[in-house]
This record gives sequence, C-alpha cells and structure tokens, in this order.
Amino acid sequence: MDEKTRLIRSGLQAQSLARTVNPPIQRGSTVLMPNAAALYDDNQLSYGITGLSSPAALQAALAELEGSPDVTLYPSGLAAITGAMMAVLKAGDEVLVVDSAYKPTRRFCDRFLTRFGVTTRYYDPSLDADALLALAGPKTRLILLEAPGSLTFEMQDVPAIAAAANARGILTLIDNTWAAGLLFKPLAHGVTISVQALTKYVGGHSDCFMGSATTMDPVIGDELGNAMWDVGWSVSPDDAYAMLRGLRTLATRLPRHEENGLAVARWLQQRPEVARVLHPALPEDPGHAIWKRDFSGACGLFGVVLKPTSQKSVHAFLDALTLFGLGFSWGGYESLAIHCDPQLKSRSKPLNFEGPLLRLHIGLEAPGDLIADLERGCAALATA
Ligand SMILES: *Cc1c(COP(=O)(O)O)cnc(C)c1O
Repeated sequence: MDEKTRLIRSGLQAQSLARTVNPPIQRGSTVLMPNAAALYDDNQLSYGITGLSSPAALQAALAELEGSPDVTLYPSGLAAITGAMMAVLKAGDEVLVVDSAYKPTRRFCDRFLTRFGVTTRYYDPSLDADALLALAGPKTRLILLEAPGSLTFEMQDVPAIAAAANARGILTLIDNTWAAGLLFKPLAHGVTISVQALTKYVGGHSDCFMGSATTMDPVIGDELGNAMWDVGWSVSPDDAYAMLRGLRTLATRLPRHEENGLAVARWLQQRPEVARVLHPALPEDPGHAIWKRDFSGACGLFGVVLKPTSQKSVHAFLDALTLFGLGFSWGGYESLAIHCDPQLKSRSKPLNFEGPLLRLHIGLEAPGDLIADLERGCAALATA
C-alpha cells in the first residue's frame, strides 16, 4: 500500500492490554463495530459519547457507593442537578426547591426552567414533612432537598419528607454533595434521585469537574440516561479516571476531614469573635438530632457566624489567612474560606444571623496549623 495509507493505518491493531491495577483510559468517539448488523443493534455500545472504559469503571464503583446499579455521569455537579431535573420535568410542572439550595440550582430554576413553563417555589428548610407537603399542589412534580445546606447547614428530615412525597406520587431529588455519597444514603431513605458533585470529595483534589445521579427506580433511571443522549452531554475519559482514583481513598480521607473540622469548629466556638458555629455534628446545632439519626459522619465543611462586625473587618480576617485559600468549591485536600453574605441575599426568606457568615472547608493539614492561621485572622479582625 501507499505510504500515506500505511502511516494512517499502522499501529492500530488492538494488542491485548497488559493487566494493570487501574482501568485503561480509552479515548474514542468512533466505536468500530464487528459487522454491518451491529451498526443498528441497540444492545451494542456504538458511540463513545456514552462513555468507554474509565467512565464505565467509575459508574460501577459509584454503584457500590450509592447502593444502586443505576448511575448516570454528568460533566459537572451542576449538570447532574439540571440534567436530572430536565429528565423528569415537563411544561406545566412545579418544583418545590429548598431555600438553602446551592445557588446555581436556583439560577437554573429562575432563568432556565421558567422559559420552559416549569415554575419553582422555594420553601423554608425548617419545614417538617407535613408542612412541606401542605405546600404541594396538583402541579407539584418534584421536591428538591439539600441537607445540610452547603452555606447555612440546615438539616432536613429527609426520610419523612421522602415518605410523604412518595405517598403523594411526588418525586424527590437530593443534592447529597456534603455527605459525598458515603455519610448519608438517600436512596435507602426513600429519595427518588440522589445527586452529588463528584467535583468535591470524590475527586478530592480540586482538579476536575463531574457529577452523578442515581436512583432505585428503573424507569427514572432510563429517563436520566436518555436525557443525557437527548442533550448530548458526555464526560471525559481522563476526568473519569481522576474521579475513580479519588474514589479509592474517599472513605479514608473523610474521617480525617471530619476530625480536623470538628477540632477547628470547637476552637472557634470558644472564640470571643464568634457568635456560633453551624455544624450539624456539634451537639449544640439545631440539626444535630437528625444528623445523628441519619448520618454516619461529617465532612470538613461548616459555617461560622461572627459577632456583628464591619465588612472591612471580615475582609481583614480573610486576607490575613495564609494557609486557608480564599476560593469557592470544597472537598479537596486543602483548606478554604469564603464569606457568604453576598450569596445569602438570594434567599426568599431573609436570614437573621447575629453577624457575618463565613464558610470554612477544613482540609487534611494538621489542625493546629489551621488554628494558628485562624488566630492570625482574629488578630487582623480586631485591629481592622
Ligand atoms: C459545588 C456544588 C455543586 C456543583 O458542582 P460543580 O461540579 O461545581 O458543578 C452542587 N451542589 C453543591 C452543594 C455544591 O457544593
């Protein structure tokens, strides 16, 4: 054959791969089919967009984590929330969304779903199952939960809400990112769809985006998978590989985040600058009883309400930190801090915290060093 042809067609023979610990990263859009009949055989994988070796391995591992074989992957955590909502909602439906939800979830509901004839009402996270279901009407198709809220850390009685919604034929969807799929098992408590941002603790290294949705209901599972086809989303094989690598150490990392987080939280509780700490694993927290009943542990993310002080002092506190990075997201090995008040303005029901709210993500550093860093922050706050 001509050299042009030989250069294009050489080296393509599939050699049998050596057996490594981890799955191969198979990159491919086109999938070569064995024969003509297979091209239109719905039972055969025929296009790389649905995910090849590493996404399939990640799905299998997440199935173990989530307790359901039905796991759909999305290119980000937000895409998992929006994709799952688009899969189950239609024009004329109404969604009840918890007021403490991740802010971009609100943005999707307010800016996007409205254009497709889906309305959203926000409900107070403190509502119990009866009060919440009393809000539901004939158009209510879905209730969105998030517990604890990832800025304000309110707990919800998820099993009771799921049971009451199931009895009314209303679907439930939870953003389970705080529990990382490990500390709380929504599907075992009757929730229809459990979503998490794998970007956070599953990835664990602040270096890639992905989300997942899982369900026990095979019909909903098909709808989730079909919606991915419909909108044409796909996850990268390299990112799926990175997520799988993170997942291997999830159950080892999380207890350290919890322990470090609680050490810092208890130190903060004693500080004169602090009004209270929002952390459901602390016995003083209003959500503690539910957390203790339903969760097997805590992660490293919690809130700190300061005593009333100026925005200038809050900025001085944050700017004095040298170990804590100032940045959004969380779940990586490193500690992060943000101030939350600008985000809280979007809440439907105004919050009445004593003072400014900070959010800390406690990483895997030694807690003594993190406390020393926060001491620097407190000193700067005092002199600002
Ligand atoms: C970060 C986050 C998401 C979105 O995840 P991305 O991968 O960043 O899109 C969703 N919910 C919660 C609670 C989050 O913290």
